[in-house]
Amino acid sequence: MQNIVDSIYHEMRTRTDRGKVANYIPQLACVDPSQFALTVVTQEGEVFSAGCAQTLFSIQSISKVFTLTMALGKLGDALWARVGREPSGDPFNSIVQLEHEGGIPRNPFINAGAIAVADAIMGHNEPKETLAEILNFVRFVANDDSISIDEKVAQSEMMTGSRNASLAHFMASFERLENPVDKVLGTYFHHCSISMTTEQLARAGMFLVSNGTNHCTGMRVVPEHRARRINSLMLMCGHYDGSGEFAYRVGLPGKSGVGGGILAIAPGKASIAVWSPGLDKIGNSKLGTEALEMLVQETGWSIFGH
Ligand code: GLN
Repeated sequence: MQNIVDSIYHEMRTRTDRGKVANYIPQLACVDPSQFALTVVTQEGEVFSAGCAQTLFSIQSISKVFTLTMALGKLGDALWARVGREPSGDPFNSIVQLEHEGGIPRNPFINAGAIAVADAIMGHNEPKETLAEILNFVRFVANDDSISIDEKVAQSEMMTGSRNASLAHFMASFERLENPVDKVLGTYFHHCSISMTTEQLARAGMFLVSNGTNHCTGMRVVPEHRARRINSLMLMCGHYDGSGEFAYRVGLPGKSGVGGGILAIAPGKASIAVWSPGLDKIGNSKLGTEALEMLVQETGWSIFGH
C-alpha cells in the first residue's frame, strides 16, 4: 500500500493544473496551493501517508459528516423533518431550492442543510457548549485530543458570511430554526473551522469503514444501519452538484470541504483523507479527486467494482 500512496503523491507533484484556492474566505485564500497530503488507514488500523500528512488544514464542510452523525444520535429519524436527504444538484451555498421546499434544505451537506443540523444539535444550548460537544465528538472519533478550532478561520468566515447568513435568515423566515440566527451561524462557522491533518481525518473516518465501530479503538460510534446511511448520504450528496461526477470517477462515499480536503470511505477496507487546497469550479479539491481516482484504479476499492 505504501508504494501506491507514494506513487500517487509523485504523480500529483507533476500536475500543473492544481485548481484555485477558495478566496471567498480570506483566511483560506492565503494557503499555499502547492501542498498535498494523502493518508490511507486500513480497517485493521495500518496507516500509510505521503506528502504533508502532519500539516493542519481547515476541514470546512467535512465537519458536516461529524455534525450529521451527532444530530442523528440526538434526534434519530426526527432529524429528517428538518432536513431532506436528496442530492440538490445546486451549488453548496445555493438558496433557490429553499423557497420551493418551505425552508427545508435538500440535504445535510449543503450549507443550508448543515446550518439546520447545527441548530438541531444545539437544542437550546449556547454555541460555546455545542462547540465543546462537537469538538469532543471529533476528538473521540479521531482518538486524538489535540484537535481544535482555528479561531482565525472562524472569524474570517464570520466577516464574509453574508451568503450563509441569508440562508439562515431565509430558513428562519419559515420558522425552521429553533435558535437565534446569529447563534446558529456562530456554531456553524466554528465547526467548519476545525483544523486537522490528513492522518487525523482518516482516523476520524474509521467508524464509517467498519459498520459503525472504529477498529483501531474498539469503540462503537454509531449502530451499523446508521453508518450505512451516512455513507449513502456521502455518496449521493457529499460533493454537492459534483456528487455524480465523484461517484462516476471515484465510486466511494466522500465528503469534500472548500479547504481542499476530502474524506473518502472504502467500506470494509479503508478510510482515506486527501488534501490539496486548489479547487475545481464546483469547489471540490481538484488534485484530491484526481488522487482518489488513481487510488481506486490501483486498489479496485470503488464500491462498484474494478
Ligand atoms: N464554511 C464554508 C461555507 O460555509 C463551508 C463550505 C464548504 O466547505 N463547501 O461556505
